[in-house]
Amino acid sequence: MEDFRANLAAVRVRIAAAAQRAGRDGDRVRLLPVSKTVPEDRVRLAVAAGCAQLGENKVQEAKRKHVNLADLGVQWSVIGHLQTNKARDVAAFASEFQALDSIPVAEALDRRLQAAGRGLDVYVQVNTSAEESKFGLDPTDVPGFLRQLPAYTALRLRGFMTLALFTDDTERVRQCFRLLREIRDRAHDTDPDLIGPGELSMGMSGDFETAIEEGADCVRAGRAIFGARATPNDMYWPTPAYKETAR
Ligand SMILES: *Cc1c(COP(=O)(O)O)cnc(C)c1O
Repeated sequence: MEDFRANLAAVRVRIAAAAQRAGRDGDRVRLLPVSKTVPEDRVRLAVAAGCAQLGENKVQEAKRKHVNLADLGVQWSVIGHLQTNKARDVAAFASEFQALDSIPVAEALDRRLQAAGRGLDVYVQVNTSAEESKFGLDPTDVPGFLRQLPAYTALRLRGFMTLALFTDDTERVRQCFRLLREIRDRAHDTDPDLIGPGELSMGMSGDFETAIEEGADCVRAGRAIFGARATPNDMYWPTPAYKETAR
């Protein structure tokens, strides 16, 4: 538990420093710890160390932990691509879904949520890296997508989420984050009623400082808190053949 406390504190220091560089208040950047692949006994220690909300990429794993750790009252955020046939599970236990990228998924979630009398915070995932194999809406499809969302009244839109390009080239990573901010700003100008608080969820352990400099309101950090994973990233999202590094 002391290790987790130290890791969380170290990440918060990095967040505060990045925010300060950008003239922002680090306390207003939400840290979402990502516990994927971390077994329940270690997750318990992390919760004891102060993690009240946890991100999971895969619904199956999130659901299992939700059940096994029910006594802890953790809020679960599903941050990975969802198939419509898993919408029922997300609607049943998640407090947040960060990877909304299709109307069929919005429709399926809304139907289940209405039946359960629940609401769900959602972020629209945008593909800002132009990698064909990555999940998320094409930037040009965002305005039309936003106009359709109000029909699904159980979904509370909080903003936009993205994964940057996987490269050590910070400038190219920055371009992805900047694009998400521009998409949000444009939507704010044309359709301010459609974007909710218009938050930006962007940045992971390897790039969250850059994301904060570009305006991230929520950063999703796994390895910086839980340590390295044995499972490669392409278990979680399709990676392009030209992937430069295995960040
Ligand atoms: C795993 C994951 C993260 C966290 O990645 P780290 O490199 O461990 O910080 C962030 N976002 C998504 C969607 C993830 O699946």
